[in-house]
Amino acid sequence: MTRSISILGATGSIGASTLDLIRSDREAWDVKALTANCSAKELAALAIEFGAEIAVVCDETCLPELREALSGTSVKAGGGAQALCEAAASGADVTVAAIVGCAGLAPVMAAVEQGGTIALANKEALVSAGDILIQAVKRYGATLLPTDSEHNAIFQCLAGNDLANVRSITLTASGGPFREWSHEQLARATREQALKHPNWDMGAKITVDSATMMNKGLELIEAWHLFPVGLDRLRIVVHPQSVVHSMVEYRDGSTLAQLGPSDMRVPIASCLAWPDRMDTNCEPLDLPRLGTLSFFEPDEERFPATRLARQAAEAGGSAPAVLSAANEVAVAGFLEGQLAFTEISAISARMLEQELPLAPTTMEEVLAVDAEARQRAGEMLETA
Ligand code: NAD
Ligand code: MG
Repeated sequence: MTRSISILGATGSIGASTLDLIRSDREAWDVKALTANCSAKELAALAIEFGAEIAVVCDETCLPELREALSGTSVKAGGGAQALCEAAASGADVTVAAIVGCAGLAPVMAAVEQGGTIALANKEALVSAGDILIQAVKRYGATLLPTDSEHNAIFQCLAGNDLANVRSITLTASGGPFREWSHEQLARATREQALKHPNWDMGAKITVDSATMMNKGLELIEAWHLFPVGLDRLRIVVHPQSVVHSMVEYRDGSTLAQLGPSDMRVPIASCLAWPDRMDTNCEPLDLPRLGTLSFFEPDEERFPATRLARQAAEAGGSAPAVLSAANEVAVAGFLEGQLAFTEISAISARMLEQELPLAPTTMEEVLAVDAEARQRAGEMLETA
């Protein structure tokens, strides 16, 4: 049986992993929409290879280049935020939401409102608009499948169990490339060093988030929305090998964990085939070769991001959206050489100390909180 699929953020790391899975089973999938921010030539090549119905660039200035690259083909070209949301609502059976940042929120909502299945990789949308997004999923009868490896692991470990029986949920964190660095070393960490993740090959923003541990902070908030067992039942443990992707402990003392190679194609495949399973050609887990798996408490003195995320979740309201926006601005500043590595979390901390906007109740209000927080974080960055 053929199913239709749209990929938002098709030119990124998650997009590439998803397309790789589709490539190995072309007959099973009918590709509807592929989108990117710009990267017009790359997007056009993918749209042609996969016979997509439509390719959309969010940045409208890239549309002429996309049109030219698609001329003479049957793929339609689109550009701009409105076209992106229309592509997200293209009626696909499965929509893979893999845009990075809060920019992914409006397209995810458009996909949710058509009531299909959404494989959600974009974590910032859930962090900024958790309640609104989860309520919309219920209202429109959509199916939300967590694609982030930890949340996908938890989802698998929870299958068939009642949340009331859960004693705790533990998110594992690799600890990133600076796990053993001192504060002085962290203050001097460069862009190149931060972009070298020991286990995962990912986009630039999430790679820096892994180095600061904000990735785990955002994932804590993500888990809080996806698996409502209460913040006090959510734990974080550092596990440098990234083999155990997360765990669920039940009240009888059983702990279920999901293990696998550090390859995003595994959780993506689990979403694409859900509730069935599909083949992947990922390297199988070789436990004797790995030998040892280790686990450590996170150090929130050197890596305050997870503490900030817990603080934002406890504060609720607009705090998670402010935190995520401030972090996006600070990470971009660090990548552009404007900010020291340790200042990324410092800016987020300062933003949470300021007076917070009122709790947003609609997606538009979340986007307004995001825009205002970005502006204020941008001003802080200028003076940092
Ligand atoms: P990436 O930077 O490799 O790709 C991002 C994609 O989004 C690209 O296609 C890009 O063109 C598009 N994009 C960027 N800005 C945009 C904008 N303003 N409007 C529209 N499109 C835009 O990122 P990634 O690593 O693939 O991550 C994507 C999302 O998935 C992130 O939220 C990330 O946290 C999450 N995630 C990624 C991984 C991973 O292994 N890469 C794992 C778990 C979760
Ligand atoms: Mg993750």
